[in-house]
Amino acid sequence: MLDLNDYIASIPDFPEKGIIFRDITPLWGNAEAYAEATHRIAHFAKMRDVNVVVGPESRGFLVGAPVAHELGTGIVLARKPGKLPRETVSEKYSLEYGEASLEMHKDAIKPGEKVLITDDLLATGGTIAATIKLVESLGGEVAGLAFMIELNDLHGREKLAGYDILSLMDY
Ligand code: 5GP
Repeated sequence: MLDLNDYIASIPDFPEKGIIFRDITPLWGNAEAYAEATHRIAHFAKMRDVNVVVGPESRGFLVGAPVAHELGTGIVLARKPGKLPRETVSEKYSLEYGEASLEMHKDAIKPGEKVLITDDLLATGGTIAATIKLVESLGGEVAGLAFMIELNDLHGREKLAGYDILSLMDY
């Protein structure tokens, strides 16, 4: 059986000393591994009657788009500020140094839609907590959160308590 962990490269001291960066590009570069990861997330979403997938820029798009295709749903983008051309809602969140924000088009989610939020990696949970706020502010119901990788030491799962979480790999 295919082990997805074989397709993750662990890079010490990137982007700075003391950090081990988990690089998912080998998984995305392998047709079988990408299909297997997509299929497992789509299965989780099917069990939760998801109507639409949301991914934060930019690696969340690479996880979410094939999942949406397999489910037969659309994908909605949560983008960095200033990228979306129509009226948006916006949410700030903290990074290790400073702040960032994400935006979604105001009409991107219909009230009551069941949403799967995807990203490549769950670290502190800040990115996904902001994405959840955007979805809920538009009336969407977050049916599940799915990640390729969860970094256990950063306790993102605690920040996202109460939500249904799938992570395909743990480090
Ligand atoms: P959080 O907001 O949960 O602290 O950080 C998660 C975000 O940081 C994700 O969008 C992810 O792309 C990025 N990230 C943080 N650490 C890593 C890492 O080791 N590998 C990868 N691929 N992304 C990371």
